[in-house]
Amino acid sequence: MKYLGLPLSVSRLKRIHFQPLEDKVAAKLVPWVGKHVTMAGRSCLVKSVLTSVVTYFIAVLDVPIEVLAKIDSLRRAYLWAACDKVTGGKCKVNWDLVCKPKDKGGLGILNLKKFATALRLRWLWQEWKNEDKPWVGLGSPCTTKDHDLFAAATTVIVGDGEKVLFWEASWLDGMRPKDVAPLIFEISRKKKCSVLCALHNDFWVSQINTQNGLSLEHLEQFYKLWEKLVNVSLHPQRPDAISWKLTNDGLYSAKSAYNMQFLGLTTSLMPPLVWKPWATPKCKFFAWLVLQNRVWTADRLARRGWPNCGLCKLCNQRLESAAHLLFKCRFSIRIWNKLKLWLGLHQIDTALWQQFHSVKEWWKKAIHKKGPHRKALASLTMLVSWELWKERNARVFRGHSVTVDMMVTKIKNEARLWCFAGAKALSSLIFCE
Ligand SMILES: [Zn+2]
Repeated sequence: MKYLGLPLSVSRLKRIHFQPLEDKVAAKLVPWVGKHVTMAGRSCLVKSVLTSVVTYFIAVLDVPIEVLAKIDSLRRAYLWAACDKVTGGKCKVNWDLVCKPKDKGGLGILNLKKFATALRLRWLWQEWKNEDKPWVGLGSPCTTKDHDLFAAATTVIVGDGEKVLFWEASWLDGMRPKDVAPLIFEISRKKKCSVLCALHNDFWVSQINTQNGLSLEHLEQFYKLWEKLVNVSLHPQRPDAISWKLTNDGLYSAKSAYNMQFLGLTTSLMPPLVWKPWATPKCKFFAWLVLQNRVWTADRLARRGWPNCGLCKLCNQRLESAAHLLFKCRFSIRIWNKLKLWLGLHQIDTALWQQFHSVKEWWKKAIHKKGPHRKALASLTMLVSWELWKERNARVFRGHSVTVDMMVTKIKNEARLWCFAGAKALSSLIFCE
């Protein structure tokens, strides 16, 4: 049975109830399947179409984990292989990392499980804020973990104490009594009473079940909670209030609830290196991959025992690796030297580049240095890297090659087009020279 497009059942919803959702996502792929969309374009379609089909369901229902996994496998297959099935070799980056926010090193595709949690927290927020909604009191699709997250994200200010749940809300110095004294919470009988009710004649104490005896830990936790409660005074004139800790205005937002689940992860350098400077999306996507050493260069293919081109096709002297292609190869260095002369980029010293071991190290230490034209240089690096990769592919797969001068001319023309398209930092560098 369906209601407002959602499966409806008196028992717990099973995977079979969500088959129409899986089919709907799979059906979106049919007209897109093929190799004519770039990876950057595909990531855009995954973000804006495949993910949004699911949003309506996950906001309302606790969708089984297997359904989310199936939808994830469709999203992953389309992103990496433009079809509905994919093998491990084609997935260049771990899916967990792909689904992290950009400032944590990911691609910013939504992590469905975490996004579902963030959306479900809205129910708990609405229960507080809009008591007159007809569904309030009928329960919500929230799990215990959702309640824990909600408590961590909110501060409850007790007024008359009528609404705040004594054990469950984070009202005691920003903590929940059940976290202050978990053992006492376990042996308490009435767990859903309000602060007003619990504090009246120390009702909460009378509810502690002491039949099985109390250990030293029980007593310690009891006194700890008791001490905190001694100073609590209710304000009968003022209603209870709640505030969301993660936004400036103190109100719930799905975005903050989603990002909260990534707190504690280290911040990535990708935004200043890749996402913020101006570049075409496909160049940014390539830069994101190559900075993690995830493009299929000969060294990586050889490690897996797969067929590869061996020596670098640009110079035919060294084993091909991402680092060699982009900044160690004499072909690439000649291009960079010519661009340096063209734009007067004195801060670039290609002679020092051989000391860097990875693309990431080179990009961080040689390109992303403090100084003038930092953003312009980031754009230019993405452009040059992309053109070098295309030239490499032309030589490996099609046997076509161009000279250094032709490459430089091509890069200059492309850079000018980027300026017209909106690359402000790059245009101030190019047109000032
Ligand atoms: Zn080379």
